[in-house]
Amino acid sequence: MNSEEMLANLGQTSDDTEFFTPMPPGYVPGRSKYVVVFGTVMSGLGKGIFSSSLAKILQDKGLVVAPIKLEGYLNRDSGTLNPLRHGEVFVLDDGIECDMDLGTYERMLDQDLSRLNFATSGQIFSSVLEKERAGAYLGRDVQMIPHVTGEVKLRLRKLAQAAEADVVFVEIGGTVGDVENAYFIEAVREMSYEEGVGNFCFVALTYIVEPQILGEQKSKPAQLNLKLLNAAGIHPHIIACRASVPVTRKVREKIALYATVPTERVFSMHDCESVYIVPEMLRGAGIDAAVLELLGLPERGPSDAERAARAAWNQYITRLREARQAVTIGIIGKYTSVRDSYASIIQALEHAGTYLGAKVQLTWVDSSDLTDATAQERLAGIHGVIVPGGFGVRGAEGKITCIRHVRERGIPYLGICYGMQLAVIEFARHVCGLQDANSTEIARHCAHPVIDILPEQKKIEGLGGNMRLGGQDMVLTPGSQACELFGGAERIRLRFRHRYEVNPEYVPLMERHGMRFSGRSPQHPIMQILELPAAQHPYFLATQSHPELSSRPAHAQPLFVGLVRAALIYAGVPADALPPSPAPPPRPKQPDPDATPAVRTC
Ligand code: GLN
Repeated sequence: MNSEEMLANLGQTSDDTEFFTPMPPGYVPGRSKYVVVFGTVMSGLGKGIFSSSLAKILQDKGLVVAPIKLEGYLNRDSGTLNPLRHGEVFVLDDGIECDMDLGTYERMLDQDLSRLNFATSGQIFSSVLEKERAGAYLGRDVQMIPHVTGEVKLRLRKLAQAAEADVVFVEIGGTVGDVENAYFIEAVREMSYEEGVGNFCFVALTYIVEPQILGEQKSKPAQLNLKLLNAAGIHPHIIACRASVPVTRKVREKIALYATVPTERVFSMHDCESVYIVPEMLRGAGIDAAVLELLGLPERGPSDAERAARAAWNQYITRLREARQAVTIGIIGKYTSVRDSYASIIQALEHAGTYLGAKVQLTWVDSSDLTDATAQERLAGIHGVIVPGGFGVRGAEGKITCIRHVRERGIPYLGICYGMQLAVIEFARHVCGLQDANSTEIARHCAHPVIDILPEQKKIEGLGGNMRLGGQDMVLTPGSQACELFGGAERIRLRFRHRYEVNPEYVPLMERHGMRFSGRSPQHPIMQILELPAAQHPYFLATQSHPELSSRPAHAQPLFVGLVRAALIYAGVPADALPPSPAPPPRPKQPDPDATPAVRTC
């Protein structure tokens, strides 16, 4: 951005007034409404699930909704975060690496999001500092208020404008009382004033404890923490109480009295068997009507479109509840102790299982001590295996051992990203006879670098050592299993996050030994899907992409459906008892060709 653009972006600035109200050009206050969701008491309450469920029920009413997650940390994006600490790194089609909640929004809303839907303190501060250097603040001292808060407000308004949103859903990361998110809270407080009465709805998510020793629900931590929100100048309009079981009326009344919120606007949001049940739960409690009323949006009776959206959603839930046939999928990894690290894979398996009428049970297998001697025992009872994405040396040999085991025994296999690279190494070593085959990520100077960072890749990305990120097109070989799984489509689009790839020098050798590279980049020699012919193995497929990121309840991802179907057959279910492949997912919109390229230097 040049300094002129920066100044234009700052909108109304003046020395005559203390008000600093940055607005994008053409923005009309009050045209879009805002719902802000805060977390109190503790993190991990499922703010993203709550906020996206609320957004979904308004979307079902025909409103255009646009979510945004505000993250307090100083990283510019989530790319450098450890999945063990923060859950998986989600990647959007435009290549931004973001919080896993963005995955929840995409799945709930069946909507592709972009970098406009995610902001971190790192981005906010960088932008303020760049503007300061460009002289954009009219000689004033740059302060948390109004300049940093101004940048937050600008982001929210830009999103509202770009999405032409009826309602923007703002999820504030962290918990009220944290230092990190205090300025986000201040920004939305100011903005609720600037946008005018009736254009903001504040929702506080809180937690009701039920200590075993007492055996009853206690509301004191919730009450005290809601006061912190009051101290920040915010009076919530709606309170949603998280708890393991439905929150009693008595407790809701207490919270209502102490927080000065009508009891009818204090809702129970208790645990349920699937996150996809939450929208109906909220609708059943009347939270959609409360939000519409508070925002002055006329409540229309359910329209045909709303009825159709609910019916389609409920069909998924009915299938999920009725799914009987148990099937066990083993996930082989390094972060097996924290399930959030694999959130999208778990979701994708649920979508595929539900589509096929199966209950997918997961078995977590730590690869660090998996050897030829232990593989048989560790993988016993597993009907299908996933080696998911990963980085580095630890556990890699164990994963290769596991891949050999499933390839030789005909156990269904889906390799994801690293899981594809390790499948190539395994095949090169044990089928093509290249004993020293490896990835240069694992053994820099190996004799056969079948996986490598290629000069071609360095040229494409501009700088060496960058990740290839975001949606990329893929051409599928007609007649291949991959092409069949995608309903005969010859061009598809999936999301990527990798630095290494199959070394094309070794492709002819591996093909001579029976491996097929059935998905390739349309422009570059990048192998994107591999498979073994059905005559050799019932289901051995791997992809350089992350198909789990684009799986949605309404569009089970074909590669996962293929795996679960093969696993069911492996478990003894007759193939003709299973439904045919689902319609392929719709192709995501092409990203803006002028957008900044998605690369990150590591
Ligand atoms: N470590 C591998 C690479 O960088 C695989 C990455 C991944 O699995 N996401 O290419």
